[in-house]
Amino acid sequence: MNQKDNNTEKTAQDSSAEVHEIEKAESAAKQKDSSDDDGKKEDNKVKSGKKEQKMESNDQNTELEKFFTDAIQDIYYAEAAIEQSLAKIKSKATSEELQEAIEDHELVTKKQILRLEKVFKHLGEEPKKKKCDAIDGILKEVDEMVKSTKDGSMTRDVAIIIGAQKVEHYEIATYGGLLQIAITLGYDKIADLLETTLDEEEETDHLLTEIAEEHVNFEAKEE
Ligand code: FE
Ligand code: FE
Ligand code: FE
Repeated sequence: MNQKDNNTEKTAQDSSAEVHEIEKAESAAKQKDSSDDDGKKEDNKVKSGKKEQKMESNDQNTELEKFFTDAIQDIYYAEAAIEQSLAKIKSKATSEELQEAIEDHELVTKKQILRLEKVFKHLGEEPKKKKCDAIDGILKEVDEMVKSTKDGSMTRDVAIIIGAQKVEHYEIATYGGLLQIAITLGYDKIADLLETTLDEEEETDHLLTEIAEEHVNFEAKEE
């Protein structure tokens, strides 16, 4: 595990510690007398992103907020399905370079799932999956494309790369749109989390293009 990985893990731990702190602060605040009300409000607002957001929307979910939560549930389902698919497909790649790229993205995907769990915490919601028909369809197609190519061939890698890029583009469209909604709703911390994931998906997409253009496509042509 490299330094960057450690930092991300640490952030995930920090976040659950932070949530625990918020819960403690909230129950402590309840026990204080009313003369301390103003201080209490200020304190909770600073310590809890969730409270801050809920306060901004007067504890009432607007249509857009409900839509946003549904869409987070959709991508949470999709990331879990992608993680399973990557685990299955990595051993099927012919070139070592592609195998490594898939393994790396499998780890990144695990972190993205944890990041979405943080998004749920900021929303004050339990992590929940909502069936994403689009990713089920794309992953089924990837599976069929891979099966249609010969084991150990470079054409196999061509199929995996195109399939993986279809997945990445679905994710880029989703995270790009959700990031803009988060900004509009003033969900600053959530926007930061979504932007980190969006950057990772874009990086992966570019890496796959490079692998294809540098040698996989040419080698497949010679088969
Ligand atoms: Fe992802
Ligand atoms: Fe979806
Ligand atoms: Fe991805």
